[in-house]
Amino acid sequence: MADVAVIGGGAAGAAAFGELLARFEGGTVHWIVGQHAPGRGVAYGTSDNQHLLNVRAASMGVFQEHAEDFLQHASRQLGQVKGTDFLPRRLFGDFIQAQVGARIDAARRAGRSFRIHPESAREIISRGEGGYAIRVGADRWLEVGDVVLAVGALAQRPLRTVSTTALAGGAYELDPWRLDRHPHAPRRVVVIGTGLTAVDTLLSAAIRWPHAELVAVSRHGLLPFNHAALPLAPYAQQEALNQALLASDGAAAMFRLVRRALNEAGDTDWRSIIDGMRPINAQLWQRLTHARRRQFLRHARWIWEAARHRMAPATGEAIYQLQEEGRLQVLAARVLDVDGSAPLQVSLRERATQLVSVLEADLVIQATGLDTAVAYGANELLSQLLRDGLATADPLQLGVLAQADGQLVDADGRPQRGLYAIGSLLRGNLWECTAMPEIRAAAHRLAVHLSPAAVVARESAGEQP
Ligand SMILES: Cc1cc2nc3c(=O)[nH]c(=O)nc-3n(C[C@H](O)[C@H](O)[C@H](O)COP(=O)(O)OP(=O)(O)OC[C@H]3O[C@@H](n4cnc5c(N)ncnc54)[C@H](O)[C@@H]3O)c2cc1C
Repeated sequence: MADVAVIGGGAAGAAAFGELLARFEGGTVHWIVGQHAPGRGVAYGTSDNQHLLNVRAASMGVFQEHAEDFLQHASRQLGQVKGTDFLPRRLFGDFIQAQVGARIDAARRAGRSFRIHPESAREIISRGEGGYAIRVGADRWLEVGDVVLAVGALAQRPLRTVSTTALAGGAYELDPWRLDRHPHAPRRVVVIGTGLTAVDTLLSAAIRWPHAELVAVSRHGLLPFNHAALPLAPYAQQEALNQALLASDGAAAMFRLVRRALNEAGDTDWRSIIDGMRPINAQLWQRLTHARRRQFLRHARWIWEAARHRMAPATGEAIYQLQEEGRLQVLAARVLDVDGSAPLQVSLRERATQLVSVLEADLVIQATGLDTAVAYGANELLSQLLRDGLATADPLQLGVLAQADGQLVDADGRPQRGLYAIGSLLRGNLWECTAMPEIRAAAHRLAVHLSPAAVVARESAGEQP
């Protein structure tokens, strides 16, 4: 049996590696993790206890079948916690590492072969029917049968409106998790973006620089909505609504159905209806034509994201308190350009009035969310896969083209045998594939699909592996 490699050291890579360790027999399971502490990735690498999970503790997990659940783990560290709590993300990072550690111990006891590579994968070459060669680090090559890409979203690129002078001056920060790079307290911080990452950035900035004035700006100036403090009762008509949505034609019809349900729901909380759609969101997305998807991204994404990806109640409270104290201002405006050096000049066109104004800022932090535009990003490996025709960029810049099982589609539109992706690279295919509940289900399905018994069954049925 050939080897298999998982590329990417974040939570999705950890889930795929652990699932494979539990069932992949014969070949070696390689995990190519890059330079960071494996398992945590961007989301769970934070050490700030104010950065909370936006999913209740009871729904967080790394593997489909787990020996210990996150609640037990968290209780040992924090004392009594409830499944309905929104806990610090740092704790979940610890949990991922402990869970992967347990799988590694079990694999050792079972005599399974695995290797963890603390370097990046730099190149993948197809061996035709015989799998792939992966260049790891400077010049080491691994020969494997299957590859799972779990490389997460791309590092942020500066907005087109930011001048080279502004970028060169050091006061424009592209990594919202690296406030520690700015030792001097700024008088005014402008955060571009008002999503969940922007919210965490604002909370960190407020603690770090207690006298700084904070401004968050996005086109609609809409912060994520809050989660309810306690789980909500399900919507009694959810099943009927979901069936109607699946039978509907296009985004406008879907929105009409959701709006009607929201109007007719009586005492049911609107958040319950949005959450109840979660099991069918990928199917709904897949039913939209290219034009409808584009329409959704242009006109509805902002409100959908704010309603679907909500803040933990404590996070919301902390943000509203900053607003009430006058320390935080949230603006609905378009950033026209960022120029200058110390301070930076941020030109804005206010949405309501269309008036243009200039804000001075000692620090501007870009927190515009997931970047999945692989054709323009600076991920060396993804650029090489696109160049060599092993992968194709999604036309709406939502990762790469793939089949339903995550198998990549090559430049000629054919499934790329043995080359799979999970996580945000599959946004174009699945839309809903970035949170742990979806990631762990995808990692499990993929590991089962790649396990020897499933491969033999497919081959004897004459199917493509
Ligand atoms: C701020 C934030 C908060 C979130 N909160 C939650 C939450 O509360 N609950 C929830 O369910 N989900 C949450 N999510 C969603 C989250 O994205 C997923 O849960 C998960 O962390 C995604 O992990 P990933 O491995 O796909 O990506 P990443 O965390 O981006 O990890 C990918 C890793 O791959 C590495 N890599 C890239 N290229 C290579 C290469 N060539 N070779 C080797 N390594 C490579 C990168 O350096 C990175 O370490 C949150 C996301 C963010 C950004």
